[in-house]
Amino acid sequence: MISFDCAELAEAVNGKLLWGNAEQVFSGITTDSRKVTKGNLFIPLVGERFDGHDYIENSINSGAAVCLTQKPIPQHDNASAILVDDTAKALRELATWHREKHNIPVVGITGSVGKTSTKDMIACVLSKQYEVLKTQGNFNNEIGLPLTLLQLDKKHEMAVIEMGMSGFGEISRLTAIAQPQIAVITNIGVSHIEKLGSQQGILKAKLEILEGLKDDGLIVLNGDDPLLRGIRGSLKHRTVYYGMENGLDYVATCYESLGESGSQFSIELDGQTYKVSIPVPGIHNVYNALAAIAVGMEMKIPIDTIIEGIGSYSPGNMRQNIISFKGIKIINDAYNASPQSMQAAINVLEELCSKTRGIAVLGDMLEMGDMASELHYSVGSFIKDKKIDYLIAIGNDSKSIMKAVADSGNQKIILQHFENNKDALKYILSIIRQGDYILIKGSRGMKMEEITDGILNSE
Ligand code: ATP
Ligand code: MG
Repeated sequence: MISFDCAELAEAVNGKLLWGNAEQVFSGITTDSRKVTKGNLFIPLVGERFDGHDYIENSINSGAAVCLTQKPIPQHDNASAILVDDTAKALRELATWHREKHNIPVVGITGSVGKTSTKDMIACVLSKQYEVLKTQGNFNNEIGLPLTLLQLDKKHEMAVIEMGMSGFGEISRLTAIAQPQIAVITNIGVSHIEKLGSQQGILKAKLEILEGLKDDGLIVLNGDDPLLRGIRGSLKHRTVYYGMENGLDYVATCYESLGESGSQFSIELDGQTYKVSIPVPGIHNVYNALAAIAVGMEMKIPIDTIIEGIGSYSPGNMRQNIISFKGIKIINDAYNASPQSMQAAINVLEELCSKTRGIAVLGDMLEMGDMASELHYSVGSFIKDKKIDYLIAIGNDSKSIMKAVADSGNQKIILQHFENNKDALKYILSIIRQGDYILIKGSRGMKMEEITDGILNSE
């Protein structure tokens, strides 16, 4: 656990001792006063709804030894306080300072979709040979990333760090802290297009990751993504591309779905062909596995060990978890949605329901701005050729998903639209039967887990 004294801390965060003792030592850091344990450093952050400074008193009562503050606060006998301009900036500075003390290779991962899955896949591979620190869950923002890196300690040999963003400048700040040796970009989709204006804007924002990349670092890019492919040859760092098209550095061929138990593909390396099994379904996972192979090869892990690492992958909560309930299979992907991840999930549904009925329950994809109806329509255009039985759309924007299927003239897919989850659930419960596969997916704000929970709690 990270541990040092106030004098060193003040230096790392450009702060000054407000009161207390410069030799006061702390160990462990938290930004949540409810999680403070004895001897911790408490960093109060100012959010939209809460100001952590209101909880400094509580944190000291719970045993915090030191706290940062960006405003004067009353003195306490049992603790020390360091005054800084901005506590969030201080957290980033502290993480940068700490990362620089650990001279290990960091893998940074960004992209529109598949960051967490790719991060976990890469960590599975690297953990076969190295002691790895990885971002827990989705802790990928300007608070989660520094807190993750602050967990680095002597035992770690590598770190695998997810970087998320919703606007320009964020990845730039994150990569400055993480200073990756390897930068992976999974794809350029349309998430957050409302803020970033265009896909070119999104590309530019993701490429900010290169600002922190070490000079001798490696860029790992999805070569089947048109925008990433488009910058081929223009980057100053060594670059490798992965995908399913010929002419890339890591190419997957012979994709085969194995149903719920996953899929397999082949890859040729140094003139030899290897079979790779992925324990979760969906062709999108091939891309995540290819990124992991590229990173593993760069880190000199033998290919057989890399393949074993991929075999040990399991997805995170609400990301395509398959739940069995009274003979019904729920593909719970309620965590979030964007056009690309919708397509990935619909592919999985189609793969799994080849011999039974497939029901897609899709909620709105939010934050799409002016492009909302066009992008929802594009998901419908993707669905129109799929062998599924029902499309149940929920919310206002998702009417365009249905419209695209209706416009296509495909009458095999039964279309239903609902304004809210409650009405949709009632309908779903009236039609589901044993053997069905039901995909549940929508943006976080659509709370699609209400549908999953509703089915699981039904008689
Ligand atoms: P967030 O922005 O919420 O952090 P993320 O980029 O970390 O998202 P994941 O959580 O890995 O993305 O995946 C979200 C969903 O996207 C998955 O459940 C799956 O449906 C789909 N997905 C995962 N990997 C890919 C991929 N490489 N390409 C397209 N879709 C993917
Ligand atoms: Mg994520």
